[in-house]
Amino acid sequence: MRASRGMTVAFGAILAVLSGLAVLGSWRQAEIVDQLAADADKIDSFQEAIYLSQREMALVQAVLNEPDGVERTELLALHDRTHAAIDRLAATIDPEHRVTAERIAARQDALEPTVRSYLVAVDEGNVAAARVMLEQDVEPAMDALAANLQTIVTAESATYLRARAGAESDSRLLLLGSAAIFLLGLTVLTLYSRSERTQRRQIEHLAGIDALTGLPNRTAFAARVGDALDKKGEQGAEADPPTVIVVNLDGFRDVNERFGHRIGDLLLIEAGRRIIAMVRAEDTVSRLGGDDFAILLADRREPDRREPDRRLGLDEDLAKRLHEGFLAPFALDDVTVDIEVSAGAATAEPGEDATALLVHADLAMHGAKKRRSGFRRFRPEEAQGYAARITMLGDLRRALEHGEQLTLHYQPKIDLLGGAVAGVEALARWHHPVEGMVSPAEFIPVLETTSLIHDFTDWVLTAALAQARRWDDAGRALPVSVNISTRTLLDPGFPDRMAEQLRTAGVPGELLCVEITEYTVMSDPGTTIGALRRIRDLGVKTSLDDFGTGYSSMAYLKTLPLDELKIDRTFVRDMITDAGSLALVESAVTLGHRLGLTVVAEGIEDAATGEALAAIGCDLAQGFHFARPQPAGDLPGLLLTPRP
Ligand code: C2E
Ligand code: CA
Ligand code: CA
Repeated sequence: MRASRGMTVAFGAILAVLSGLAVLGSWRQAEIVDQLAADADKIDSFQEAIYLSQREMALVQAVLNEPDGVERTELLALHDRTHAAIDRLAATIDPEHRVTAERIAARQDALEPTVRSYLVAVDEGNVAAARVMLEQDVEPAMDALAANLQTIVTAESATYLRARAGAESDSRLLLLGSAAIFLLGLTVLTLYSRSERTQRRQIEHLAGIDALTGLPNRTAFAARVGDALDKKGEQGAEADPPTVIVVNLDGFRDVNERFGHRIGDLLLIEAGRRIIAMVRAEDTVSRLGGDDFAILLADRREPDRREPDRRLGLDEDLAKRLHEGFLAPFALDDVTVDIEVSAGAATAEPGEDATALLVHADLAMHGAKKRRSGFRRFRPEEAQGYAARITMLGDLRRALEHGEQLTLHYQPKIDLLGGAVAGVEALARWHHPVEGMVSPAEFIPVLETTSLIHDFTDWVLTAALAQARRWDDAGRALPVSVNISTRTLLDPGFPDRMAEQLRTAGVPGELLCVEITEYTVMSDPGTTIGALRRIRDLGVKTSLDDFGTGYSSMAYLKTLPLDELKIDRTFVRDMITDAGSLALVESAVTLGHRLGLTVVAEGIEDAATGEALAAIGCDLAQGFHFARPQPAGDLPGLLLTPRP
């Protein structure tokens, strides 16, 4: 009895100690987990700051290659995000590193004016000056920033690893034999491997490796091109000048959007492998970023005895090899996709640096993409066109900021039955301070290459709606048509901006009509239909411009939410003299009417054409014969008195 009581007491005591240990253990365990989670979060925030600053650098470089509005806009937005990330870091970091973090934040701040003046140089088309600023100011400052961040990360990681080791031994002592230790171990392990992955990614990135494909990144590639150029410089005529090929996957964005980023990532990895399989071991394959890859051809005078057939030789050979390499579909998990590529090649000219060589190959690639030719070699005229385009973009940006150089002219649309003015089309005019009048046919395609086109369309809408308001106030409710470019129509935010503009101007939707072209429809029918529906919900009318010019949108005509069809002037021009054109115009009028649309003919230059159009039942007409596009102030007489 006594013995058994003693046993119970002892057992109870052991139980109590064990429970105490368990409570202590789980309390300590919770503390450890919290601490490790906080540390892991901190490392994530470093990771974010490093990633953002690296991305910023990549964008700064990309702006020089392609002074595209998207990259530029992203760059400015990113600068703020980087700043916020560094601030966050400074707030969470241990006091001993806080001063360093604050110094980094200050440095990043100080960088902003430098980046801005660099952008100004890019805008002004001053590529040489921009490159000097990039190399002498921006890049060193950003490198220093990244190095500083890395120092803190290394220090913090060490603290973290020590804490993790401490946590492990504590938990071993406290929770030996308990199932909880298993859980904790699991948690610690997960956190540990996560941070290891994160660190590996950082290290790889800083070492110049693209984490996804394992290929050299843009920075590392540019350095190798630089080395090849130096080598050529030393060896003179004995070596071939380096050749760079930029390869871009056609339709990569579609794959990403349709099947998700995971499939997109797999595609990039596989594409990288295929490109590697096309070249010699001495050649360098890099992923520059996004779906852009690049190849640096090693000196071709050094024959590769092991793999003579893997020599990328003449252009035809190159083009053929790239084309064939991408013929087989890509099997990515459970989806199969077909991908083609566009590639551009450039060979260094004396005195050219790595940046120029990359820019040239990139321009050639864009040329190949535009012509859908698959492959193109760089032509110096392209660089001139490119420089001119940069200059024009800079001029346009300033014109949009100040507003004085841009105006709208209005061309009346005449009712062929009664001769009254049924509406006007707003047409943009740019008065360049040096070049004089620049045609919209010239500057709109340039604007369309960047997101500046959105600002431009907003400007056009504001001006056209203000004018509609003035006419309405003067007792003439006159519908105004505006031309909307593809890129703007496909911008998901556009219909809402239009609604806002109508509200601000106080103009009813019925007084506005948007003209889009068949090209827009064909480039993305689904999005176009959606956008047109939202626009029509505002009461705004829709019109299909340049109808009949090549891009057959016939299949979509019946599903497009349209009010109007505009027959292109190339058919109208010859309808009197050419039976074929007449037949086309007649069929277009019938087709439009069967679909319940108003039919407009453009480009009427003589009375006979006007009469012929009236005879076949066309509703409205527009052309120099009735009135040229002109400033609003010159129109009133025309607007009030219908033509006899
Ligand atoms: P579009 O929309 O087809 O505009 C009609 C063009 O034909 C205008 O050229 C107009 O001046 C011209 N035109 C009118 N009647 C006649 C005629 O009887 N004979 C001949 N030969 N031409 C005539 P413009 O103003 O040079 O505009 C060219 C194109 O630029 C426009 O073609 C349109 O696609 C684009 N565009 C003009 N303004 C804007 C705008 O604000 N936004 C956008 N996205 N595009 C615009
Ligand atoms: Ca038009
Ligand atoms: Ca037209």
